Parts: sequence; C-alpha cells; structure tokens
Amino acid sequence: MARHLITSAIPYINGVKHLGNLVGSQLPADLYARYLRARGHEVLFLCATDEHGTPAELAAKKAGKPVAEYCAEMWQVQSDLAEGFRLSFDHFGRSSSPQNHRLTQAFAKALDEAGLIREVSETQMYSPTDGRYLPDRYIEGTCPNCGFDSARGDQCDNCTKQLDPVDLINPRSVISGATDLEMRETKHLYLRQSTMKDELEKWIDTREGWPILTTSIAKKWLTDGDGLQDRGITRDLDWGIPVQRGDEPWPGMEGKVFYVWFDAPIEYIACAQEWVDAGKGDDWQRWWRTDAGAEDVRYTQFMGKDNVPFHTLSFPATILGSAQPWKLVDYIKSFNYLNYDGGQFSTSRGRGVFMDNALEILPADYWRWWLLSHAPENSDAEFTWENFQTSVNKDLADVLGNFASRVTKFCRSKFGEEVPAGGTPGDLEAKLIADLTAKLREYDAHMEAIEIRKAASALRAAWVLGNEYLQEAAPWSTFKTDPEQAAMQIRLALNLIRLYAIVSQPFIPDASAQLREAMATDDAWPEDVSAALQTLPAGHAFTVPDVTFRKITDAEREDWQARFSGTRA
Ligand SMILES: [Zn+2]
Repeated sequence: MARHLITSAIPYINGVKHLGNLVGSQLPADLYARYLRARGHEVLFLCATDEHGTPAELAAKKAGKPVAEYCAEMWQVQSDLAEGFRLSFDHFGRSSSPQNHRLTQAFAKALDEAGLIREVSETQMYSPTDGRYLPDRYIEGTCPNCGFDSARGDQCDNCTKQLDPVDLINPRSVISGATDLEMRETKHLYLRQSTMKDELEKWIDTREGWPILTTSIAKKWLTDGDGLQDRGITRDLDWGIPVQRGDEPWPGMEGKVFYVWFDAPIEYIACAQEWVDAGKGDDWQRWWRTDAGAEDVRYTQFMGKDNVPFHTLSFPATILGSAQPWKLVDYIKSFNYLNYDGGQFSTSRGRGVFMDNALEILPADYWRWWLLSHAPENSDAEFTWENFQTSVNKDLADVLGNFASRVTKFCRSKFGEEVPAGGTPGDLEAKLIADLTAKLREYDAHMEAIEIRKAASALRAAWVLGNEYLQEAAPWSTFKTDPEQAAMQIRLALNLIRLYAIVSQPFIPDASAQLREAMATDDAWPEDVSAALQTLPAGHAFTVPDVTFRKITDAEREDWQARFSGTRA
C-alpha cells in the first residue's frame, strides 16, 4: 500500500465548465483516485475553485453581485456539479480561503528572504473617477485596427488583434465609463524566476517517466527566446489576497493583492489545510511536508496542456525558492484539447455541452464513459453526437448492460432469484478465466500508468469476453438437455456481473453500485479471477437490476445536436 496525493487543476470560478474542461483534469484525476482507493492505497484527492483576478470581478459585476457573494454562489454550483459527476474529491476547497491567504503571504515572505523578489516600477492606466488602477480588461475603447467601438484593453473581440490599453482610441473605464484616464506610475513585486532556470531544469531532469507533452512544454518555456522570465506576482486590484510579508505589512504595497497565478497553485496545499479544518482529516502535513512524512507520498497532478508551464515552472519556482521542505510533484498527467462537433467548445458563444446541460439529459456514467474512453491524451480529440451515441449504445447498453440483464432474467425464469447449484466447469470456463486474467492484468497496467484510453479499451474487451462466453456456452440451449450444466454456466455469469461491477467502478461508479446492489455483494478487487468467479456461492440471493444503460435514439441525438450548437445565454 502506498500513499497518493492527487490534485486536479483548479477550475476558474466564473461559470459552469464544459465537457472539454472536465475531461482535461477533474475527471481523469477522479478515475485515478478511484482506482487507487479500490486497490487499497491511501489517497488524498484535492480540488478547489480558483477565485481571484479580474475575470471574477467582471463576472460578479455582470451578475450585479459583490464579488465575494458571487464566488460563494459559483463555488456551490461547481461543487454540486462535481458531485453530480461523482467526482470523489476528499475536499473541494476555495482559493479565497483564509488558509490560502495565510499560506500565500508566508510564501511571499520566504521568497523575499531568499532574495527572489524584486520591486519594479511600471506605468498603468489610472482612473481618478473610480479611484483605482484599471487592469487591461477594465478598459474599453475604439480599436485602432478595425474601428470596433468596444475593443478591450488587451484584445479586440471583433478583429482579434492583441492590444495595449494605450493603443485604444477614446479609452474609457468599464466600471464608470469615465474617460479622464491617465498613465500613472505604480510599483509591483516580481518573482525572479530567471535566476532559478538552472535549478528548475535540473529538477525537471530528475522527474522520471514524465509524458513528452509535459516535458517538451516545460523545456520550451525554460529555453525559448530569452528563457524563463521574471514574473509580476502583484496587481492593483481589490479582490484577492492582500500583499503582506507573512503577517507583517509590506511597505509600499498597500492596497495591492497577489496576482492570481501566484496564489492559485498554493491553494493545492491550503486545500489540505481546509480538509483538516473541515474535520475530514487530521494531518495535512504528512501529505505536504517532507519533514513530516510526505517523503514517501507519490504526488500526481492532472491538467490541460495550457496549464503545464505553471505547474512545471512557476509553482515549483515558488516551492523551491522558499527553501522549505514542501512536497514537489512526482508525475504530471497533461491533456490535449477536446473539440466539439467540427469546431471548438466556446464558453462565450455557448457552443458545446456544459456540465449542467449534460446531467440534465443523461446520467453521469454515460458521459464519464465516453469522455474517459476518448480522453485527449496523445492528440486533440473530438466529441461528435454520432460517436457518443454509438459508444453508449454499443459499449454500455449492448455489451455490459445487456449481459447483466440477460443473465439475471434467464436465471430468474429458470432457477429463481438465487445463484443456482450443480454442474462442473470445463475447458470453455478455463479459457474464459485465462483470457480474463490476461485482460485484467492489461487493465491494471494501463491504470497504473494512467493510460486512460488503453485502460478503457482493456475494460471493454473484458466485458466482451463475457458476452462471447455466453454466446458459446448458450445456457438457454444447454438448459434443455443438461440443466445442471446450464446452472454452472449461469453461476459463473452471475459472478462475472459482480466482477465487472467491481473493476468498472472507477469509470462508471453509479452502474457499478447498482450492479453490486443487485448481486448483494462487496467490492473486493478480483486479484485472482478464478477465485473471484466463485465468490457468489450457490444459494446466494440476488435481484434483477433495472435497466443499467438505455440506448440513445436517433431522434434524441438530432435534438441534442441542434440544441447545443451555440445559443447558450
Ligand atoms: Zn479590431
């Protein structure tokens, strides 16, 4: 038994995430956490919302709410959806927590003491009417390129040109509409990442077996152009963690907050403290402090490829730079993008299926299975309704669901609702056990290596073996000539339902629970297939489960395809 710390990239607070976001971090992290727990390992699985920064302030303003209230509400929405998708976080925290405030301020102090913080003077747009500095996104004006009259300070949404606020014609404050904007000098703190290039590169070289996608992105940032750049860690905003040196004031930094990229990954640690403070655990340090037991923890992070630089460079720079004994990540599993039906998911245009819509039309397992078995691991993947329909109808309804239904119904009609006695296994059963053993070893190996598509395909192949056995043994024919032999075949098939329920649990937890309940059985992992297939003895009572997976009709598919093509408000 080992100890596994697992974190999923933390989703930003401003709105419901789409299925591409889900499969890019939270869902595969959940699969891995569930698998490791099922195999008897000790797991701490953490996620949280990323709540600071300008987009949260703007979204709150749009919703007409104070930003703290808006974030609290959206945390609840995201937390409920996570539960709906059966994401088995040990704690779902918030980057705005008091724990993260204290820890972020403490890290800034440690980095300053290590000589890794410098002060930089820069100029920024200031609005005397609003009495504050305006981040780029708080400024609108006319685009110098195309003449669009609502171009943002960082980009024109009409012609997509990247802009600087000073480029805008007739710039105005998004908050008040004020036009008396002026450039003023302001001071910010920078993390001297450039001085840590060699240390970071050396550390990355010690990480074993990292995916090429992860390492190549990290190395590119380290060495391309002028190499790793120093980065501002403070901003002139109201919403965020006040800039302090530990619990002391930081002279000259009054009224400023830490930049969201700096405090968000620190929430991985703060989240473990929240977990303890919420009464769910009693010792967070043994997961995070290498001087308090975390030395033998294996730490795995899950994220989309756009988050890789922050997790391979920025966050490690914070940790290494602090010179304190924090646990560093052992393995990073990163994902490409999931596209949607011939294009991209778009949050702003409401194109694609979002987590809330998904659960309104089908239960979580249908989505979990498709998303995980098509995870964008080695290249981008694409969601199409045709593929989704085929995969659900074939894999889940025809192969797994139908097996459970046929076997239990046949048994009920011929032998009653208990496991029948009699008969002797022969060559066909020995072959099934050998094939299943090989397939489940393959499944285990892929799960250990977090090769998700390959694991899904091994699992599907294990389901198919049961169907092939049933087809060949044909207990409905056997029953006419040799009822004892048919009883043996059905006894084996009932035990197979139990085995499938257990090994499928990380992918489809609700179906797994339904089938285990119908079989009135435990969830002990089948280490030995032959022994596992004798777990339910003759006389053991079961019930016929309700339909485990229903089919998606062509009419539904067409309806959904039209509904999610891009009109979400
Ligand atoms: Zn433009």
